[in-house]
Amino acid sequence: MRPIRSGDRGPAVTEIRTILTGLDLLTSTASPAVDEFDLDTERAVRAFQQSRGLSVDGRVGSETWCALDAARWRLGARTLYHAVPEPLTGEDVRSLQERLLEMGYDVGRADAIYGIRTSRAVAQFQREVGLTPDGSCGPHTMNALRRIGRKVVGGRPQWLRESDAIRQSGPALVGKTVVIDPGHGGTDPGMVVPDGPLRWTEADLVHDLASRLEGRLAASGVRVQLTRGPAPDSCLPDTDRALLANSLGADVFISLHLDGHANPDAEGVATYHYGTNNGVTSATGERLAGLVQREIVARTGLRDCRTHAKTWDLLRLTRMPAVRVEVGYLTSPADRARLIDPRFRDRVVEAIVAAVQRMYFPIELDVPTGSIDVSELRAVVTAGTVVD
Ligand SMILES: [Zn+2]
Repeated sequence: MRPIRSGDRGPAVTEIRTILTGLDLLTSTASPAVDEFDLDTERAVRAFQQSRGLSVDGRVGSETWCALDAARWRLGARTLYHAVPEPLTGEDVRSLQERLLEMGYDVGRADAIYGIRTSRAVAQFQREVGLTPDGSCGPHTMNALRRIGRKVVGGRPQWLRESDAIRQSGPALVGKTVVIDPGHGGTDPGMVVPDGPLRWTEADLVHDLASRLEGRLAASGVRVQLTRGPAPDSCLPDTDRALLANSLGADVFISLHLDGHANPDAEGVATYHYGTNNGVTSATGERLAGLVQREIVARTGLRDCRTHAKTWDLLRLTRMPAVRVEVGYLTSPADRARLIDPRFRDRVVEAIVAAVQRMYFPIELDVPTGSIDVSELRAVVTAGTVVD
C-alpha cells in the first residue's frame, strides 16, 4: 500500500486521526479538518512511531498502520485470550500486562502480545480472586481488575516473593548475581560538561564506577554482570537493560547515573526505586534504595537528596530489587571535583557494596550505616557470619 502522508485527505486519514486522538497524541481541536493529514497529524504519527520503536518517517505505511490498528483497542472492549498461532496484540493487551506487572504478576515484558506468559499470569490472578482460571480476560476478569483498583494491591505477590527469596538466601554474598547498569553509552554520552581542554561525560564516569564496583563485588564472591562495555556502538534502551537483568536471573540490579541541572548550585545524591504515587511500592527495592542512599551519604558527604519512587521502565520491568542511583551532579563544581577523583569514586563503590551486603542481613541483625569495613567483607561473607 502507498503510505498515507502529509497532504492526503479522506476517510483513512480520519481513522488515523481518531486513533491518534484516542492515544492522546493528537488534540481533536487542533485542526478543524478531520480528514486532512496536516502537520499536527504528521507530528502525532512521528511521536507514535517513536513510542512503538518503528522507523520515524511521519507517514502511515503498512507497518505503522498495523501498529495503529492494534493501538485502537481499549482494555475491556473485547475479550482477550491466548490465541494460537496468531496471538492477539493491541494496546488493551499492553494495558493489561502493565496492570498485572504493577500488581506483581509475572507477565514478562509489557509487549502488547497476549502470549502464554500473559495467559498464565491472568490465570494466576483469576485463581487468587476466586474466578475460573482459564487465562482469558473477559468481563468477569475485567470486573475483578476494576474492583481491586490501583490502590488496593496489598498482596503484591511478586514483592512478597522477592522478600522471601532474600530471607531464604542467607547473608552471604557468595553466589549472588548483581547486574550493574552504567547509564547511557554509545551514541548517548548522558550529561556532558566541558572543563578547560577536558570533557567529562556521565557515560564514562558511571562506567568507571561500574567497573570498580564490579571488582569489589567480584572479590566478595558475587557474580557480576555489566549491561554495557566502556564504548558500545549504540545505546541500549532501558527496557532492554531490564530484560537483560531478568534473563540473567539477577538478585540485585543497580543502575548508575549522574545528575545535571542548569543551576550549578544543584548538587547531591538521590536513589530511585519502583513505586507509584498511589503508594504501590517494591518493598525490597525501597529497602535497597534506602541502604544505598544512607551509605553513600554517610561515606562521601554528598548532599542527601533522598530516595524517591518512580515507575520508570528500568525499575518496573526488572523482577528483582532494583535501584537507580544519581551519584551527584556533574554540573555542580563541588560534586564534579569529587566525582573526577578516583579515590572518591572508590568511596562511592564501598558504600554501594556495604548497602548490598546489608540488604542480605536479616533486619534484626542489621548494622549501623557506615560501619561495614568493605575490605574485610570477603572473610566475613565466606564465613557466612554477620559483622557486629
Ligand atoms: Zn543519566
